[in-house]
Amino acid sequence: MSNMEYFYPAAAVIDREPPEPEEILVIFCGDDLVLTTDGSLPRGGDWCCGVKSKRLILGRIGRARCSLLEWGGSTGDDGGNEGAGIEHLPENFRVQNLRSALLRLPFEARIAVCRGRELAYWRRNRHFCGRCGNELEDLVEECARRCPFCGTVFYPTISPAVIVAITSEDDRLLLAHNRKFRDGMYSLIAGFVEPGETMEEAVRREVAEEVGLSVRNIRYFGSQSWPYPNSLMAGFTAEYAGGEVRPDGVEISDAGFFTPETMPEPPGPGSIARTMIDHWIANYGKKIHE
Ligand SMILES: [Zn+2]
Repeated sequence: MSNMEYFYPAAAVIDREPPEPEEILVIFCGDDLVLTTDGSLPRGGDWCCGVKSKRLILGRIGRARCSLLEWGGSTGDDGGNEGAGIEHLPENFRVQNLRSALLRLPFEARIAVCRGRELAYWRRNRHFCGRCGNELEDLVEECARRCPFCGTVFYPTISPAVIVAITSEDDRLLLAHNRKFRDGMYSLIAGFVEPGETMEEAVRREVAEEVGLSVRNIRYFGSQSWPYPNSLMAGFTAEYAGGEVRPDGVEISDAGFFTPETMPEPPGPGSIARTMIDHWIANYGKKIHE
C-alpha cells in the first residue's frame, strides 16, 4: 500500500460470498487485530481460516475492496487448554493488540481498522430493539439495523469527546494526572461532549470542572478516531484566562503548568494528546514573541 492511496468508506453492507483474493481484510480476534507476520492487513487470498460472523464490507483502499471479519479461533496463547475443534492461527499470521497495531499501520489502513473496530463493537452490542425489545435485522442497503416489529432503525454510534491543550501567558502547558493513568503519566484535559453542547462549550466545561480554570481563544487543532470503543476525539488549543489550578480530586488528582524541561512523562505516541504535546514542544516560546 503506497502513501498515495486513501481509504474510501462504503455503505457497509453484509456480504455472504468468500472474500476476493486481493481484498484487504480487517480481522478481529476479540478486541485484537489479526495481521500477517510482516505487520500488514491480510489479503483475501491469504486467509484460510473460518469466520465467526458474516463479512461486512467497509470500503476500499485504492482498487482493493476492504472488509471486516471476526475470527473466533485460538491464538495459541491459551496454554493448549481449549476444547478440541477450535481453529489455530496459521504460522504466517499473528494477533496484535489494537493500539500497538494502529501505531505501525499506514494511514489508510488505520482508518479501515478504526471503522471496522467501531462497527464490530456496535454490531456486537445492538442485537435488540431499544424501543420494543424485538430482535433486529440487518438492512441490506446501508449500515444499520431495523426492528421488523416497530420499524425503528438503529445506526452505528460515535461518541464525540474533546481534548484541549491549555497554555499560560508564558506558554507553559497544562498537564494533568488522571486517576486512571499509570503512576507518573500526565496528559491534556479531555472529556465527552454532553448532549446539546457544542464542542467549544464542552472544552470550557471540562476545564472548569476538572481543574477549576477558565479559558479563551478556543481553536480547533485536529481530530482522531479513537475506537476504544467508539469515540471521536476533537483536539483544541486554548489560552489560560483565569482561576487557580484546582484538580477536582475525582478524575484528576494533580495538575499544573509545565515547560518542556519540567514536564512529567507524556502519553505514548499514537494519540492526538501526544501529537498536541509534541506540537507545543516544537513551537515552545514562539508565540510569546509574536
Ligand atoms: Zn422495535
